[in-house]
Amino acid sequence: MQQVVLKPGRDHSAKLRHPWIFSGAIATAACQDAGEVEVVSAKGEVLGRGVYSPASQIRVRMIAGEVETLIDQALARRTLAPAGGVRLVNAENDGIPGLVVDCYAGYAVCQFTSALAEHYRARILAVLSGKPGIKGVSERLDIDSRAKEGLPTAPKWRQLQGEEPPELVEIVENGLKFLVDVRTGHKTGFYLDQREARALVGSLAKDRTVLNCFAYTGGFGVYAAQGGARAVVQVDISAAALALARRNAEANGVQCEFVEADVFKYLRRLRDEGRKFDLIVLDPPKFAESKSQLMKAARGYKDINLLAMKLLSPGGVLATFSCSGAMGEEFFLTILREAALDSARNFQIVARTRQAADHPVALDFPEGLYLKGVVLREYQSL
Ligand code: SAH
Repeated sequence: MQQVVLKPGRDHSAKLRHPWIFSGAIATAACQDAGEVEVVSAKGEVLGRGVYSPASQIRVRMIAGEVETLIDQALARRTLAPAGGVRLVNAENDGIPGLVVDCYAGYAVCQFTSALAEHYRARILAVLSGKPGIKGVSERLDIDSRAKEGLPTAPKWRQLQGEEPPELVEIVENGLKFLVDVRTGHKTGFYLDQREARALVGSLAKDRTVLNCFAYTGGFGVYAAQGGARAVVQVDISAAALALARRNAEANGVQCEFVEADVFKYLRRLRDEGRKFDLIVLDPPKFAESKSQLMKAARGYKDINLLAMKLLSPGGVLATFSCSGAMGEEFFLTILREAALDSARNFQIVARTRQAADHPVALDFPEGLYLKGVVLREYQSL
Protein backbone atom coordinates (compact mmCIF):
# COMPACT_ATOMS: atom_id res chain seq x y z
CA MET A 1 0.00 0.00 0.00
CA GLN A 2 1.25 3.48 -0.80
CA GLN A 3 2.24 5.76 2.06
CA VAL A 4 1.27 9.26 3.04
CA VAL A 5 3.76 10.78 5.50
CA LEU A 6 2.61 13.64 7.71
CA LYS A 7 4.70 16.68 8.62
CA PRO A 8 6.29 16.74 12.08
CA GLY A 9 3.74 17.88 14.67
CA ARG A 10 0.79 17.45 12.28
CA ASP A 11 -0.41 14.04 13.50
CA HIS A 12 -2.48 15.28 16.43
CA SER A 13 -5.88 15.12 14.78
CA ALA A 14 -5.28 11.67 13.27
CA LYS A 15 -4.24 10.42 16.72
CA LEU A 16 -7.54 11.76 18.05
CA ARG A 17 -9.22 9.57 15.39
CA HIS A 18 -10.50 12.49 13.35
CA PRO A 19 -11.04 10.99 9.88
CA TRP A 20 -9.77 13.90 7.74
CA ILE A 21 -6.14 14.62 6.76
CA PHE A 22 -5.78 18.05 5.15
CA SER A 23 -3.30 18.68 2.34
CA GLY A 24 -1.30 21.10 4.54
CA ALA A 25 -0.49 18.33 7.04
CA ILE A 26 1.14 16.09 4.45
CA ALA A 27 4.92 16.00 3.95
CA THR A 28 5.10 13.41 1.20
CA ALA A 29 2.55 11.29 -0.62
CA ALA A 30 3.74 8.45 -2.79
CA CYS A 31 0.58 8.50 -4.88
CA GLN A 32 -1.20 10.61 -7.45
CA ASP A 33 -4.53 8.87 -7.85
CA ALA A 34 -7.45 8.07 -5.60
CA GLY A 35 -6.50 4.82 -3.93
CA GLU A 36 -5.89 3.20 -0.57
CA VAL A 37 -3.02 4.63 1.42
CA GLU A 38 -1.37 4.07 4.76
CA VAL A 39 -0.96 7.23 6.81
CA VAL A 40 2.21 7.48 8.92
CA SER A 41 3.55 10.18 11.23
CA ALA A 42 6.87 11.95 10.66
CA LYS A 43 8.37 9.49 13.16
CA GLY A 44 7.12 6.56 11.10
CA GLU A 45 4.25 5.46 13.35
CA VAL A 46 1.37 3.95 11.39
CA LEU A 47 -1.74 6.05 12.11
CA GLY A 48 -4.22 4.18 9.98
CA ARG A 49 -5.56 3.51 6.51
CA GLY A 50 -7.49 5.76 4.21
CA VAL A 51 -8.23 6.75 0.65
CA TYR A 52 -6.25 9.48 -1.08
CA SER A 53 -8.12 12.25 -2.86
CA PRO A 54 -5.87 14.15 -5.26
CA ALA A 55 -8.35 16.97 -5.94
CA SER A 56 -9.64 17.81 -2.48
CA GLN A 57 -8.24 19.92 0.35
CA ILE A 58 -9.22 16.96 2.52
CA ARG A 59 -6.46 14.91 0.93
CA VAL A 60 -7.02 11.65 2.82
CA ARG A 61 -10.13 10.29 4.51
CA MET A 62 -9.54 7.52 7.01
CA ILE A 63 -11.51 4.31 7.32
CA ALA A 64 -11.25 2.21 10.44
CA GLY A 65 -12.30 -1.18 9.06
CA GLU A 66 -13.56 -3.07 6.04
CA VAL A 67 -16.31 -1.20 4.27
CA GLU A 68 -18.57 -4.30 4.17
CA THR A 69 -18.38 -4.69 7.96
CA LEU A 70 -18.99 -1.00 8.56
CA ILE A 71 -22.12 -1.02 6.37
CA ASP A 72 -23.44 -4.17 8.06
CA GLN A 73 -22.95 -2.54 11.46
CA ALA A 74 -24.61 0.71 10.35
CA LEU A 75 -27.63 -1.24 9.07
CA ALA A 76 -27.82 -3.26 12.27
CA ARG A 77 -28.22 0.00 14.22
CA ARG A 78 -31.30 1.00 12.17
CA THR A 79 -34.80 -0.35 11.73
CA LEU A 80 -35.76 -0.71 8.11
CA ALA A 81 -39.57 -0.47 8.21
CA PRO A 82 -41.08 -1.51 4.84
CA ALA A 83 -42.90 1.81 4.34
CA GLY A 84 -40.53 4.04 6.30
CA GLY A 85 -37.85 6.55 5.41
CA VAL A 86 -34.54 6.08 7.17
CA ARG A 87 -30.88 7.06 6.86
CA LEU A 88 -29.01 3.76 6.78
CA VAL A 89 -25.47 5.12 6.55
CA ASN A 90 -24.45 8.54 7.86
CA ALA A 91 -21.00 8.99 6.35
CA GLU A 92 -18.14 9.75 8.79
CA ASN A 93 -20.48 9.17 11.73
CA ASP A 94 -20.89 5.52 10.73
CA GLY A 95 -17.20 5.18 9.89
CA ILE A 96 -17.48 5.55 6.10
CA PRO A 97 -16.44 9.09 5.14
CA GLY A 98 -18.63 10.59 2.46
CA LEU A 99 -21.12 7.74 2.06
CA VAL A 100 -24.76 8.55 2.65
CA VAL A 101 -27.45 5.92 2.13
CA ASP A 102 -31.08 6.89 2.66
CA CYS A 103 -33.87 4.40 2.13
CA TYR A 104 -37.46 5.27 1.20
CA ALA A 105 -39.93 2.38 1.39
CA GLY A 106 -37.21 -0.02 0.26
CA TYR A 107 -35.65 2.22 -2.40
CA ALA A 108 -32.12 3.07 -1.31
CA VAL A 109 -30.64 6.35 -2.56
CA CYS A 110 -26.88 6.80 -2.18
CA GLN A 111 -24.61 9.82 -2.21
CA PHE A 112 -20.96 9.03 -2.85
CA THR A 113 -19.65 12.42 -1.77
CA SER A 114 -15.94 11.61 -1.33
CA ALA A 115 -13.16 9.92 -3.24
CA LEU A 116 -13.27 7.27 -0.51
CA ALA A 117 -16.93 6.44 -1.06
CA GLU A 118 -16.34 6.48 -4.82
CA HIS A 119 -13.32 4.16 -4.44
CA TYR A 120 -15.40 1.56 -2.60
CA ARG A 121 -18.44 2.01 -4.86
CA ALA A 122 -18.53 -1.56 -6.23
CA ARG A 123 -18.06 -3.11 -2.78
CA ILE A 124 -20.71 -0.85 -1.26
CA LEU A 125 -23.22 -1.75 -3.95
CA ALA A 126 -22.44 -5.45 -3.57
CA VAL A 127 -23.30 -5.28 0.14
CA LEU A 128 -26.50 -3.30 -0.40
CA SER A 129 -27.77 -5.57 -3.18
CA GLY A 130 -28.08 -8.57 -0.89
CA LYS A 131 -29.93 -6.83 1.93
CA PRO A 132 -33.49 -7.83 2.81
CA GLY A 133 -35.78 -4.82 2.64
CA ILE A 134 -33.77 -3.04 -0.06
CA LYS A 135 -35.60 -3.38 -3.39
CA GLY A 136 -33.27 -1.25 -5.46
CA VAL A 137 -30.42 1.24 -5.28
CA SER A 138 -30.03 4.56 -7.06
CA GLU A 139 -27.75 7.55 -6.53
CA ARG A 140 -27.76 11.35 -6.54
CA LEU A 141 -24.73 13.02 -8.10
CA ASP A 142 -25.67 16.71 -7.89
CA ILE A 143 -23.66 17.35 -4.74
CA ASP A 144 -21.20 20.23 -4.14
CA SER A 145 -18.74 18.03 -2.29
CA ARG A 146 -18.46 15.75 -5.33
CA ALA A 147 -17.33 18.75 -7.36
CA LYS A 148 -14.70 19.53 -4.69
CA GLU A 149 -13.45 15.96 -5.01
CA GLY A 150 -13.22 16.30 -8.79
CA LEU A 151 -16.05 13.79 -9.28
CA PRO A 152 -18.80 14.19 -11.91
CA THR A 153 -22.02 15.83 -10.68
CA ALA A 154 -24.27 14.89 -13.59
CA PRO A 155 -26.71 13.38 -14.24
CA LYS A 156 -28.63 14.55 -11.18
CA TRP A 157 -29.89 11.05 -10.48
CA ARG A 158 -29.30 7.57 -11.84
CA GLN A 159 -30.50 4.06 -11.20
CA LEU A 160 -27.76 1.62 -10.13
CA GLN A 161 -29.28 -1.76 -9.41
CA GLY A 162 -32.49 -3.63 -8.62
CA GLU A 163 -35.94 -2.11 -8.87
CA GLU A 164 -36.36 1.50 -10.05
CA PRO A 165 -38.29 3.75 -7.67
CA PRO A 166 -41.61 5.17 -8.86
CA GLU A 167 -41.73 8.86 -9.82
CA LEU A 168 -42.83 9.62 -6.28
CA VAL A 169 -42.10 7.19 -3.46
CA GLU A 170 -44.68 7.21 -0.67
CA ILE A 171 -43.26 6.84 2.81
CA VAL A 172 -45.03 6.70 6.15
CA GLU A 173 -43.51 8.71 8.99
CA ASN A 174 -45.13 8.58 12.42
CA GLY A 175 -48.35 7.50 10.72
CA LEU A 176 -48.29 10.37 8.21
CA LYS A 177 -47.81 9.90 4.47
CA PHE A 178 -45.25 11.81 2.46
CA LEU A 179 -44.39 11.67 -1.23
CA VAL A 180 -40.67 11.74 -1.93
CA ASP A 181 -39.11 12.74 -5.24
CA VAL A 182 -35.78 10.95 -5.10
CA ARG A 183 -34.79 12.12 -8.61
CA THR A 184 -35.03 15.89 -8.22
CA GLY A 185 -35.93 16.59 -4.57
CA HIS A 186 -33.46 18.14 -2.14
CA LYS A 187 -30.64 15.95 -0.81
CA THR A 188 -31.90 12.42 -1.50
CA GLY A 189 -35.49 13.67 -1.64
CA PHE A 190 -36.62 14.32 1.93
CA TYR A 191 -35.39 15.90 5.16
CA LEU A 192 -35.31 12.72 7.23
CA ASP A 193 -33.11 14.58 9.75
CA GLN A 194 -36.08 16.67 10.95
CA ARG A 195 -38.35 13.68 11.70
CA GLU A 196 -38.17 14.07 15.49
CA ALA A 197 -38.54 17.86 15.37
CA ARG A 198 -41.60 17.52 13.12
CA ALA A 199 -43.20 15.20 15.68
CA LEU A 200 -42.42 17.71 18.44
CA VAL A 201 -44.01 20.56 16.48
CA GLY A 202 -47.05 18.37 15.78
CA SER A 203 -47.44 17.81 19.52
CA LEU A 204 -47.40 21.56 20.19
CA ALA A 205 -49.87 22.60 17.49
CA LYS A 206 -53.27 21.90 19.03
CA ASP A 207 -55.69 24.83 18.60
CA ARG A 208 -52.91 27.08 17.35
CA THR A 209 -52.56 29.11 14.17
CA VAL A 210 -49.38 27.92 12.50
CA LEU A 211 -46.95 29.53 10.08
CA ASN A 212 -44.49 27.05 8.55
CA CYS A 213 -41.65 28.96 6.88
CA PHE A 214 -39.29 27.25 4.42
CA ALA A 215 -41.89 24.50 4.20
CA TYR A 216 -40.31 22.45 1.36
CA THR A 217 -42.79 19.57 0.88
CA GLY A 218 -44.84 20.64 3.89
CA GLY A 219 -43.58 18.30 6.60
CA PHE A 220 -43.89 20.53 9.68
CA GLY A 221 -47.21 21.94 8.44
CA VAL A 222 -48.76 18.52 7.86
CA TYR A 223 -47.72 17.39 11.35
CA ALA A 224 -49.17 20.61 12.81
CA ALA A 225 -52.47 20.19 10.96
CA GLN A 226 -52.67 16.57 12.06
CA GLY A 227 -51.89 17.70 15.60
CA GLY A 228 -55.03 19.82 15.67
CA ALA A 229 -53.85 23.24 14.48
CA ARG A 230 -56.60 25.79 13.88
CA ALA A 231 -55.02 26.90 10.60
CA VAL A 232 -51.72 26.21 8.83
CA VAL A 233 -49.91 28.45 6.35
CA GLN A 234 -47.05 26.81 4.43
CA VAL A 235 -44.53 29.19 2.85
CA ASP A 236 -41.76 28.36 0.41
CA ILE A 237 -40.04 30.07 -2.49
CA SER A 238 -40.21 26.94 -4.65
CA ALA A 239 -43.39 26.25 -6.61
CA ALA A 240 -42.31 22.65 -7.17
CA ALA A 241 -41.83 22.06 -3.44
CA LEU A 242 -45.23 23.58 -2.69
CA ALA A 243 -46.92 21.45 -5.35
CA LEU A 244 -45.68 18.38 -3.50
CA ALA A 245 -46.60 19.95 -0.14
CA ARG A 246 -50.16 20.32 -1.42
CA ARG A 247 -50.25 16.64 -2.40
CA ASN A 248 -48.84 15.67 0.99
CA ALA A 249 -51.58 17.63 2.76
CA GLU A 250 -54.20 15.92 0.57
CA ALA A 251 -52.70 12.48 1.19
CA ASN A 252 -53.21 13.03 4.92
CA GLY A 253 -56.64 14.64 4.61
CA VAL A 254 -55.55 17.94 6.18
CA GLN A 255 -56.18 21.55 5.12
CA CYS A 256 -53.38 24.06 4.66
CA GLU A 257 -52.89 27.37 2.89
CA PHE A 258 -49.92 27.53 0.52
CA VAL A 259 -47.94 30.68 -0.16
CA GLU A 260 -45.17 30.93 -2.73
CA ALA A 261 -42.94 33.70 -1.39
CA ASP A 262 -39.51 34.73 -0.18
CA VAL A 263 -39.75 34.29 3.60
CA PHE A 264 -37.58 37.38 4.25
CA LYS A 265 -40.12 39.52 2.39
CA TYR A 266 -43.24 37.62 3.44
CA LEU A 267 -42.52 37.98 7.17
CA ARG A 268 -42.21 41.75 6.66
CA ARG A 269 -45.51 41.81 4.82
CA LEU A 270 -47.21 39.92 7.66
CA ARG A 271 -45.69 42.36 10.15
CA ASP A 272 -46.95 45.35 8.17
CA GLU A 273 -50.42 43.77 8.00
CA GLY A 274 -50.37 43.23 11.78
CA ARG A 275 -50.91 39.47 11.47
CA LYS A 276 -50.17 37.18 14.45
CA PHE A 277 -49.51 33.44 14.73
CA ASP A 278 -49.50 31.10 17.73
CA LEU A 279 -46.78 28.79 16.38
CA ILE A 280 -44.09 29.67 13.85
CA VAL A 281 -41.58 27.25 12.33
CA LEU A 282 -38.36 28.53 10.77
CA ASP A 283 -36.38 25.80 9.01
CA PRO A 284 -34.26 27.68 6.49
CA PRO A 285 -31.64 26.22 4.15
CA LYS A 286 -27.97 26.34 5.14
CA PHE A 287 -27.02 30.04 5.36
CA ALA A 288 -23.32 29.31 6.05
CA GLU A 289 -21.40 26.88 3.84
CA SER A 290 -18.23 27.45 5.87
CA LYS A 291 -16.82 29.38 8.84
CA SER A 292 -15.97 32.31 6.55
CA GLN A 293 -19.68 32.88 5.85
CA LEU A 294 -20.68 32.68 9.50
CA MET A 295 -21.15 36.39 10.19
CA LYS A 296 -23.26 36.96 7.09
CA ALA A 297 -25.28 33.88 7.99
CA ALA A 298 -25.76 35.18 11.52
CA ARG A 299 -27.38 38.34 10.16
CA GLY A 300 -29.80 36.21 8.11
CA TYR A 301 -30.73 34.06 11.10
CA LYS A 302 -31.19 37.10 13.31
CA ASP A 303 -33.36 38.83 10.72
CA ILE A 304 -35.90 36.04 10.29
CA ASN A 305 -35.96 35.12 13.97
CA LEU A 306 -36.54 38.72 15.03
CA LEU A 307 -39.39 39.08 12.54
CA ALA A 308 -40.94 35.79 13.66
CA MET A 309 -40.67 36.73 17.35
CA LYS A 310 -42.60 39.91 16.67
CA LEU A 311 -45.32 37.98 14.80
CA LEU A 312 -46.07 35.66 17.73
CA SER A 313 -49.27 36.09 19.67
CA PRO A 314 -48.88 36.18 23.50
CA GLY A 315 -47.69 32.75 24.69
CA GLY A 316 -46.77 31.88 21.13
CA VAL A 317 -44.17 29.28 20.23
CA LEU A 318 -41.23 29.61 17.84
CA ALA A 319 -39.56 26.42 16.58
CA THR A 320 -36.38 27.61 14.94
CA PHE A 321 -33.61 25.65 13.26
CA SER A 322 -30.15 26.00 11.77
CA CYS A 323 -28.64 23.31 9.57
CA SER A 324 -25.37 25.21 9.03
CA GLY A 325 -22.66 22.92 10.38
CA ALA A 326 -20.34 25.91 10.78
CA MET A 327 -22.74 27.43 13.32
CA GLY A 328 -22.39 25.93 16.79
CA GLU A 329 -25.32 25.41 19.14
CA GLU A 330 -24.21 28.14 21.52
CA PHE A 331 -23.70 30.68 18.76
CA PHE A 332 -27.21 29.96 17.47
CA LEU A 333 -28.58 30.59 20.98
CA THR A 334 -26.62 33.87 21.13
CA ILE A 335 -28.28 35.01 17.90
CA LEU A 336 -31.69 34.10 19.31
CA ARG A 337 -30.95 36.10 22.48
CA GLU A 338 -30.06 39.16 20.40
CA ALA A 339 -33.20 38.78 18.31
CA ALA A 340 -35.33 38.42 21.46
CA LEU A 341 -33.76 41.54 22.94
CA ASP A 342 -34.53 43.56 19.80
CA SER A 343 -38.07 42.17 19.67
CA ALA A 344 -38.59 43.42 23.26
CA ARG A 345 -40.23 40.11 24.16
CA ASN A 346 -39.29 37.37 26.62
CA PHE A 347 -38.85 33.72 25.77
CA GLN A 348 -38.39 30.45 27.57
CA ILE A 349 -36.57 27.50 26.05
CA VAL A 350 -39.14 24.72 25.84
CA ALA A 351 -36.95 22.22 24.00
CA ARG A 352 -33.75 21.86 22.04
CA THR A 353 -33.44 19.46 19.14
CA ARG A 354 -30.78 17.93 16.96
CA GLN A 355 -30.81 15.79 13.85
CA ALA A 356 -32.81 12.56 14.21
CA ALA A 357 -31.25 9.44 15.76
CA ASP A 358 -30.60 7.77 12.39
CA HIS A 359 -28.21 10.71 11.71
CA PRO A 360 -25.84 9.99 14.64
CA VAL A 361 -22.77 12.11 15.41
CA ALA A 362 -19.45 10.34 15.94
CA LEU A 363 -17.80 11.62 19.11
CA ASP A 364 -14.48 12.11 17.28
CA PHE A 365 -16.15 14.02 14.42
CA PRO A 366 -17.67 17.27 15.73
CA GLU A 367 -18.52 18.30 12.15
CA GLY A 368 -21.15 15.55 12.24
CA LEU A 369 -23.49 17.73 14.30
CA TYR A 370 -25.03 20.18 11.84
CA LEU A 371 -28.73 20.46 12.67
CA LYS A 372 -29.80 22.38 15.76
CA GLY A 373 -33.22 23.45 16.86
CA VAL A 374 -34.60 25.58 19.65
CA VAL A 375 -38.25 25.74 20.65
CA LEU A 376 -39.06 29.01 22.39
CA ARG A 377 -42.24 30.12 24.14
CA GLU A 378 -43.06 33.77 24.60
CA TYR A 379 -43.89 34.69 28.23
CA GLN A 380 -44.49 37.76 30.36
CA SER A 381 -46.24 39.64 27.58
CA LEU A 382 -46.97 43.16 28.71
N1 SAH B 1 -38.76 22.06 6.77
C1 SAH B 1 -38.57 21.24 5.60
C2 SAH B 1 -37.19 21.41 4.99
C3 SAH B 1 -36.82 22.83 4.60
S1 SAH B 1 -35.55 22.92 3.39
C4 SAH B 1 -38.89 19.80 5.95
O1 SAH B 1 -39.05 19.44 7.13
O2 SAH B 1 -39.00 18.99 5.02
C5 SAH B 1 -35.46 24.62 3.03
C6 SAH B 1 -36.54 25.14 2.09
O3 SAH B 1 -36.40 26.57 2.05
C7 SAH B 1 -36.49 24.69 0.64
O4 SAH B 1 -37.72 24.10 0.31
C8 SAH B 1 -36.27 25.97 -0.19
O5 SAH B 1 -37.04 25.99 -1.38
C9 SAH B 1 -36.77 27.01 0.76
N2 SAH B 1 -36.20 28.35 0.61
C10 SAH B 1 -34.92 28.72 0.45
N3 SAH B 1 -34.79 30.06 0.48
C11 SAH B 1 -36.04 30.57 0.68
C12 SAH B 1 -36.56 31.88 0.83
N4 SAH B 1 -35.77 32.95 0.80
N5 SAH B 1 -37.88 32.02 1.04
C13 SAH B 1 -38.70 30.94 1.10
N6 SAH B 1 -38.25 29.67 0.97
C14 SAH B 1 -36.94 29.49 0.77
